[in-house]
Amino acid sequence: MSSLKELVRLMQELEDQLVACMRCGLCQAVCPLFAETGREADVARGKLALLDGLAQEILKNPQGVQDHLTRCLLCGSCAANCPSGVKVLDIFIKARAILAGYLGLSPLKKVIFRGVLRQPDWFNRILAWGARFQGIFVRPVDDLLGSSCARFMSPLLTHRHFKPLAPVPWHLQVPRRDSPPGASNLKVVFFVGCLIDKVFPQVGEAGLAALKHHGVGVYLPAGQGCCGIPALSEGDTQTFRQLVRHNLTLLDDKSIPCDYLVTACATCTSTIKTLWPLMMADASPEEQERVAALAAKTLDISQFLVDKVGVAPAAAGPEDGRIPVTYHDPCHLKKSLGVAAQPRVLLQANPAYVLQEMAESDWCCGCGGSFNLQHYKTSAAIGQRKRENIAQSQCRVVATGCPACMLQITDMLSQAGLRVQVKHTVEIYAESLKPR
Ligand code: SF4
Ligand code: SF4
Repeated sequence: MSSLKELVRLMQELEDQLVACMRCGLCQAVCPLFAETGREADVARGKLALLDGLAQEILKNPQGVQDHLTRCLLCGSCAANCPSGVKVLDIFIKARAILAGYLGLSPLKKVIFRGVLRQPDWFNRILAWGARFQGIFVRPVDDLLGSSCARFMSPLLTHRHFKPLAPVPWHLQVPRRDSPPGASNLKVVFFVGCLIDKVFPQVGEAGLAALKHHGVGVYLPAGQGCCGIPALSEGDTQTFRQLVRHNLTLLDDKSIPCDYLVTACATCTSTIKTLWPLMMADASPEEQERVAALAAKTLDISQFLVDKVGVAPAAAGPEDGRIPVTYHDPCHLKKSLGVAAQPRVLLQANPAYVLQEMAESDWCCGCGGSFNLQHYKTSAAIGQRKRENIAQSQCRVVATGCPACMLQITDMLSQAGLRVQVKHTVEIYAESLKPR
């Protein structure tokens, strides 16, 4: 938070938005957090009631308000099902910014966001160092899932099973690309995102393979940074805006015209489409226009391949011998952007797989980014419901379109010793394009 003026502006915006909530409580039925805790304070209605008197509450107990606000996955289930159309996520994001502006960031968050995340070169170097030496601290636990756990007691990693950092991040494997449009006559600028770059480079590779297969020109600018959501979720609008500006310069290069911006990360897609314009409201009109134009042409890769390129399901053959795959809807794709059909089409386009829906495919996996770090026990409890639904589907593979969900699902499956592979939707599609 940069100024008192902005604080006041955000407060006024909140007041205007909060009146839309009619306290009907329908959000209770869809809130994954409420389903675990049963606490009214955890559901959207409870938080909105608290925010209604934010100015007074901030003076009385700012830390208490902040603690309440962090108890939220920002999954958007409440907003997607609210009959009054309350913009719950906008409100929570703004409220977190107000609280961080009032209380300041903790020293640790300052180091992480302002010292590391907002300087992409430095961030890359630190994680490259981490990838080199991680073997000292972590050990593999499951070959099929590729998961690891901490070798020693660690307050940060606890008993998590996680994907280790890739030995070579994607930005070193494919530092830059600028290929012309082919048969599709389309060209896209590809935004990578931190998790694909540093943990799942094979997803970036699959995305590029699919785009190349369909004759889509790709502009992949070097030096991309984080989309900014980790900082914004903690209220650090300063870091967020710096990252938006950094990426905007690279992605919106007027000398390399592109039809769309494509990402394979549901969270990045949703952040660029909804939060970049929302939280750049103080920028110059010209900058706002550029952000809005880029947001308008941003698509998830499944949406691009199905809606713009025309990928369709393969002819259905006998199910015998096909690999059963189930699909988890990332909240940031389905609830924030309404993208649910296209990833399924992409899966059905690979004739080696057969799609079998799990129960509650759009129930949140429990990750919630920083929620997982701050409230791991609850995050894992929510994730167990997802794991049970995956297990009951009896599929050998679970696909999804968000690397953060991939991490959470891997953790849940690995801890239970379930032999189910976790793949990105575009990985499965790209497998069908390989020469056999
Ligand atoms: S957020 Fe929407 S669903 Fe929840 S209480 Fe308010 S109006 Fe009802
Ligand atoms: S965003 Fe998700 S976790 Fe947060 S209140 Fe809404 S439904 Fe509950």
